Amino acid sequence: MNLTPEMKTQLAEQKKQCVFCKLISGEMPAKKVFVDKITVAMLDIYPALKGHTLFMLKEHYPIMPYIPAEEFKHYFGILPQLCQAVKKGMVSTAINVFIANGGVAGQQSPHFLAHVFPREQGDGFFNFLFKQGGSLEEAQVKMLSNNFNLMMQNHFSRNPAVWHQGEGATPDFLEKIKTDDVTIYEDEKVLAVIPEKSAAKGHIVIYSKDEKRYIEKLATPDAEHLFFAASFAATAVFEGLGAQGTNIILKSGITDDNPEGRLVLHILPRMPGDHLQSLLWQPKQPSYNVDSVMSKIKDNTWSIKSEAKEEEKSEAKGEVKIEAVVKKKVIINNYDLKGKKLSPEEEIRRAIEGMQR
Ligand SMILES: [Zn+2]
Repeated sequence: MNLTPEMKTQLAEQKKQCVFCKLISGEMPAKKVFVDKITVAMLDIYPALKGHTLFMLKEHYPIMPYIPAEEFKHYFGILPQLCQAVKKGMVSTAINVFIANGGVAGQQSPHFLAHVFPREQGDGFFNFLFKQGGSLEEAQVKMLSNNFNLMMQNHFSRNPAVWHQGEGATPDFLEKIKTDDVTIYEDEKVLAVIPEKSAAKGHIVIYSKDEKRYIEKLATPDAEHLFFAASFAATAVFEGLGAQGTNIILKSGITDDNPEGRLVLHILPRMPGDHLQSLLWQPKQPSYNVDSVMSKIKDNTWSIKSEAKEEEKSEAKGEVKIEAVVKKKVIINNYDLKGKKLSPEEEIRRAIEGMQR
């Protein structure tokens, strides 16, 4: 990336003070449950729920839109397997994944990460039980839909997909949703709608056409695409509606706040002091044996099939060195609303400003 010296200094300073970079490098002790060349998963030291796991990229990226495409694919491609491991280790029946982009959305450190929560019905966790809260004007829906579609078009032109021709068919389990809600984007793998009962102005809901309920059943390319769509949806509400941050909340399996147990991603625009403050949990000391939880989850991450893990093995054996999976030149989401390409400098500037707000 071609950063100006000033930007390089700013990012380097941010990185130097980053607690998560220290936890990842081993400078600070961490309860790691999974490591490959590109990602790390560790227990949160202030868990909202038993088994609360943080999933991170080793590299320091302030927010989701600035993750290079190859790393993005690797990270979200193995997320279903990590969810499976957390779920199995904790013997839970459901999973949430929580992502905050920006301080106003509850991001506490400028190191991108996802919170993985093992969930079940009756677990007493109600933070993700949304109340109805505002809806968009028709013109705003249209604008959001136009921008989102444009970003997806740009995405497909940069990352051509053999399976992509157009909208694709609607699976039976999404028929009713398509009738009741307003579709703003659709392709062969995802359906994005403005729900009839929005939790906030600009609330977007994305469904996978490949799987009705369980994140861990998603194949790697399906998971990658689902999160690419979520990331562009978040950018569309961030830029189009003037939000100051965004949350992405994945629900999967039956919980009190997801009674049908659907696999669903909620994209929520955030503003300072908005009515969505209750999404966030209070940090608290774990009331359980952390080491035992760590080993239970770790016991289930061994089976994660990670290309980066394979690479490490073959290199260790002195075999032919495989070209690194990480190609840092590619930046996703580097289009503004009119489809104009942003320079890397502009992107980093926006990312840093976003974090400093
Ligand atoms: Zn960091």
